[in-house]
Amino acid sequence: MRNVTILCLLYGTLTLGIVSVLLYVRFHRDHESSWQKKPQEPATIWKLDKKLQQQAIRGSGQIPRAERPNKDEAKKPKPFLALGENFNYTDPEFIHGLSTYGLNTIISKSLGNQRNVPDTRDKMCLKKHYPTRLPTASVVICFHNEEFNTLFRTVSSVMNLTPHQILEEIILVDDMSEFDDLKDKLDYHLEIFREKIKVIRTKKREGLIRARLIGAVRASGDVLVFLDSHCEVNRVWLEPLLAAIAKDRKMVVCPMLDSIDHMTLNLYPSPVVRGAFNWHLQFKWDTVFAYEMDGPEGPTTPIRSPAMSGGIFAINRHYFNEIGQYDKEMNLWGAENLELSLRIWMCGGQLFILPCSRVGHVDRHRMQNITQVIKALRYNNLRLVHVWLDEYKEQFFLQRPDLKSTPYGNISERVELRRRLGCKSFQWYLDTVFPELETLSEMKANNLHQ
Ligand code: UDP
Ligand code: MN
Repeated sequence: MRNVTILCLLYGTLTLGIVSVLLYVRFHRDHESSWQKKPQEPATIWKLDKKLQQQAIRGSGQIPRAERPNKDEAKKPKPFLALGENFNYTDPEFIHGLSTYGLNTIISKSLGNQRNVPDTRDKMCLKKHYPTRLPTASVVICFHNEEFNTLFRTVSSVMNLTPHQILEEIILVDDMSEFDDLKDKLDYHLEIFREKIKVIRTKKREGLIRARLIGAVRASGDVLVFLDSHCEVNRVWLEPLLAAIAKDRKMVVCPMLDSIDHMTLNLYPSPVVRGAFNWHLQFKWDTVFAYEMDGPEGPTTPIRSPAMSGGIFAINRHYFNEIGQYDKEMNLWGAENLELSLRIWMCGGQLFILPCSRVGHVDRHRMQNITQVIKALRYNNLRLVHVWLDEYKEQFFLQRPDLKSTPYGNISERVELRRRLGCKSFQWYLDTVFPELETLSEMKANNLHQ
């Protein structure tokens, strides 16, 4: 009888699992098509209820895809690299891949360790010349439970598309991954890149913020370049970043992120956008208007950006240390991108997106540990709010009154850092860098006048 009960339970759980994934796939497809009709709408994380979705959305999943010029053509924008879409939604491997890694592992496996992605740069970028002597770069890639082939394509794209004299090293930080293929098998396959690769394994799960710092400490290049473990860099991706930093050591630069669909692994070129956020501290992409690129550099003009989307950027290594790296007390994932963006601007640096540097990023759909991530994000956001927002913290608490008395640890070191660096006020940041971020009363007043 016990056996029968256990069997029933097992089958029940299995059926529930399959039904959830099928529902997910269905939802995702509906969501995809409506998203494609309105490319600037932020993507949502389907699994959460509305309130939680609001908190969990973060940049890279929201990269708007380029609109097709001819509106009469089929609604779906054409990817630069099209792969088949005949998925078998009931295939256990497909279901397992999607729920474990947040992407279609069957396609990823079939693509293998490397692929050529088409050049997504504007033609004008091809005419740009960069100095032959550039600083060297240490590329830091942290990963936690990443799909093997996706991770390997990240590394091989960097190896294949970066001139070796400017690539000091690639530092892989395994943030306590649990999967066997990310241990000996990975080391074995990385042997071919032996001369450039260092692998560090953390002794406990650190979260991406501390994992990046562990990598940065071991770096010896002039510039630190942080990448996610599900990226594919494009042609001449690194030179624009290094050239900008060589000109101004306090310049922090991000590549334009092209979107790699997590189901098809098709690559969609991104239009030129800038990073922004709202009073919930949710990152979003803002449109860059054509007139802003009217100058002599046209569509290759560097875009001044109030914020960076996530962890894909380049920074002078010494400057990164001088301005206080990251807040080490931030946990797991989230808010570190906005905290660093504010710190750069308010403490004398600049943040730009360079349209001629292109990196593809897989918009994974996270299905695991969501509760843990939400908890960390809330804590990290509060640390940011209390250190950087001055009197404008009220704007955040108007959105999130429930967090007013939530603990956020000890921030005295970060407050002292802000004082030591002589950083400007948040009011200065709003006036000078991000005037588009209106307070709630300004928004109401403007709505009344319209
Ligand atoms: N990551 C990590 N430890 C963690 C969470 C994430 O090393 O605890 C890695 C992850 O594998 C990825 C990078 O940090 O390479 C950024 O994470 P994610 O892609 O989830 O962030 P997003 O793209 O949403 O900004
Ligand atoms: Mn990512």
